[in-house]
Amino acid sequence: MQRSILITGGAGFIGLNLVYYLLEMNYEDVTIFDSLTYAANQRELERLSKERQVQFIEGDVTKQAEVGQLFERSYDVVIHLAAESHVDRSIAEAKPFLDTNILGTYHLLEQVRQGRCGLLLHMSTDEVYGSLAATTSPLTEAGLLRPGNPYAASKAGADLLIHSYVHTFSLPVIIMRAANNYGRYQHAEKLIPKVIMHALENNTIPLYGDGGHRRQWLHVYDHCMAIMTIMEKGVPGEIYHIGGTHEYTNLETVKRILQLLGKDEELITFVEDRKGHDRRYALSSEKLKRQLGWQAVTPFAQGLEDTVLWYRDQWRKGAFR
Ligand code: NAD
Repeated sequence: MQRSILITGGAGFIGLNLVYYLLEMNYEDVTIFDSLTYAANQRELERLSKERQVQFIEGDVTKQAEVGQLFERSYDVVIHLAAESHVDRSIAEAKPFLDTNILGTYHLLEQVRQGRCGLLLHMSTDEVYGSLAATTSPLTEAGLLRPGNPYAASKAGADLLIHSYVHTFSLPVIIMRAANNYGRYQHAEKLIPKVIMHALENNTIPLYGDGGHRRQWLHVYDHCMAIMTIMEKGVPGEIYHIGGTHEYTNLETVKRILQLLGKDEELITFVEDRKGHDRRYALSSEKLKRQLGWQAVTPFAQGLEDTVLWYRDQWRKGAFR
């Protein structure tokens, strides 16, 4: 049976990939709600709306009236991706992160409370746990929330608010905590597209600290499959991790990109570390694998090569943003 799906933040990196994925899976009733911040990919959104059957509604999750209007019709599933998402910006100014990531989530929860949505899937992040020691095992969903930057704190705040609403009102909400995503349509401020862009232009590549910060990388296509799996089989009230299979230091990731582009490692310039920079994140996705049968299938080497080639192609066409 066809379900109506609303995607907040659907004009951003993960949102656009998810919309294309849902259309590929023959979902027909897909609505995007997005306020079109600097992070939205308007060019791709326009192309998508022209070519495919998707409804776009411009609006802001921080504005209660706009969210109220959006829910004049109900949705079977809401996938909540709208967020301020860049750590460096949250360090420069935290307020928009508190507004969008916490207040915006509150507005959606109120709609769920009023019965206007059958299931809310909330996208959270590995960053809510803060930095892990090098020897700590990947965290389960029972890990303590110890956010290390204002972005992570705003996401943890939303998670806690959801926890309270699920506990108090028994709402059908699921929290998904994902690792670092990579793939097409990501904004050029994020590590992988930024490095590709700088390398293509033969510009120096600024790398924080000693480059030894470790991250799991999750191909956005694997992520979309996980979201679909959780939408179909997830248990309301639960939290699921969506992790990558391996961890890589940022330096290793940058070197791999340079190698794929045939560029010299001398482009790398170590710069003063980000304030409060978390050294390591690592999620265990065992629960999602064991209970719902999902696991990441894209090897990093292959996913990264595809991604680098896609950005190079965009750059050659003058479409890199
Ligand atoms: P993004 O920054 O690329 O896109 C965010 C989208 O939300 C943009 O289109 C933007 O216009 C929209 N938006 C921002 N504020 C809004 C508001 N007030 N009202 C309506 N729309 C608004 O982000 P992304 O990388 O696609 O991330 C999507 C979600 O996944 C976020 O919740 C993020 O915290 C989470 N997440 C991302 C990653 C990652 O690696 N990208 C990892 C884990 C979790």
